[in-house]
Amino acid sequence: MNFADSEVVASILKKDGYQLTDNVNNANLVLLNTCSIRDKAEQTVRNKLKSFNSQKKYNKNLKVGLLGCMAERLKEKLLEEEKMVDLVVGPDSYKDLPNLLDEVEHNQKAVNVILSKSETYGDISPVRIHNNGVNAFVSITRGCDNMCTFCVVPFTRGRERSRDPKSIHREINELNNKGYKEVTLLGQNVDSYLWYGGGAKKDFEKASKNQKKNSQKFSNLLELVASSFPEIRFRFSTSNPQDMTVDVIETMAKYDNICNYIHLPIQSGSNRILKKMNRLHTREEYIKLIKKIREIIPNCGISHDMITGFPSETERDHQDTLSLMEEVKYDFGYMFAYSERPGTYAGRHFKDDISPELKQRRLEEIISLQQKHSYERNKRFMGLECSVLIDKSSKKSNNFWSGRTSENNVVVFPKYNFSLGDIVNVEVQDCTTATLIGDVNKIKV
Ligand code: SAH
Repeated sequence: MNFADSEVVASILKKDGYQLTDNVNNANLVLLNTCSIRDKAEQTVRNKLKSFNSQKKYNKNLKVGLLGCMAERLKEKLLEEEKMVDLVVGPDSYKDLPNLLDEVEHNQKAVNVILSKSETYGDISPVRIHNNGVNAFVSITRGCDNMCTFCVVPFTRGRERSRDPKSIHREINELNNKGYKEVTLLGQNVDSYLWYGGGAKKDFEKASKNQKKNSQKFSNLLELVASSFPEIRFRFSTSNPQDMTVDVIETMAKYDNICNYIHLPIQSGSNRILKKMNRLHTREEYIKLIKKIREIIPNCGISHDMITGFPSETERDHQDTLSLMEEVKYDFGYMFAYSERPGTYAGRHFKDDISPELKQRRLEEIISLQQKHSYERNKRFMGLECSVLIDKSSKKSNNFWSGRTSENNVVVFPKYNFSLGDIVNVEVQDCTTATLIGDVNKIKV
């Protein structure tokens, strides 16, 4: 999401006469787009800020600005108390950047952290920054109305709002014309996408009968983009199990160009902990959803997010997480030790009572189980031919391409005469926990 937001910021500043540079020595302005999801992310930002500030010795004109969730959470603190930045701009205030930069020029404090109910940057064509010309991100919702007790996002990114499908279509059309091959639709909770002439989720009840009747859900949006752009592969992230509906899965099955991959965070396998996290579904409902996905899309890649050491988590709760993982056998997983976030419900009401050592031990256990499952799941591709979209050179060898299958597995194979952005049929011959290794059937080539 931050990646996509930075591209919006680049576009706003380009219109204001700024140019991008890769070299900090040439920069008049460094903007750091930040994440507050865990304490570690914030510590990383503080270290980066120190290093940019030390550049000011050599580059007297350099200004340093803080964007994103950390700006929203800490507001003036880094500017006034710690004097680490020249401007502070929250996720909904990027259009105000040209004004704020004027204020900085005049040695004024520049802060805008006002969260909006409507701002979606829908009218902006992002400047693609770290561009391979193949994959692009397109935001479809902003903010989040699910109040998971551990999560800082509703506080830093505000209320949930969806973007007008016309502006989403326009942005994808531009990408299509530029030859992009894959688009990931982005939102904190894409399955609750809802456009009824307006996009603020909390105001939907106030919409007219007609607006409600003509409203568009996520499955309608998926259908619109998949049918309008058959040459583009679509992915989306993130799905919240409580909001995912069968019509989304059916739409995925209906269109070959919607990838067979769902990232479906659960956070814990214990019903007691799920309730305490205010995740509004049970383990059983989640497993039912997974079964439905596999019934409709048998080969679907499925991944999870998991948190270990949430307040009061017992050994039994932890075992429930491991048994859920055994039951589902995910293809991939993103696993984290609980990090208390100030201001969240859990931060205010639950004691962070699991020791760092215990969190770490449980984390290592789920990571090693996930690695085992990833390897087992990867083995199912052995001997099969997969359609792979080439998105970069392999990190290990310049003679190999790296790309992804529809199920989101990374595949490396010899380059031959293929190019970035080609879709190639690759026979999988070997695999590790993270990668499929293959070759191209030359008779067919
Ligand atoms: N909107 C997405 C989550 C985005 S944050 C969703 O609801 O699924 C990405 C992941 O970071 C979360 O899924 C969660 O696993 C992790 N995370 C969020 N807050 C956290 C915290 N306080 N401590 C540790 N991990 C956290």
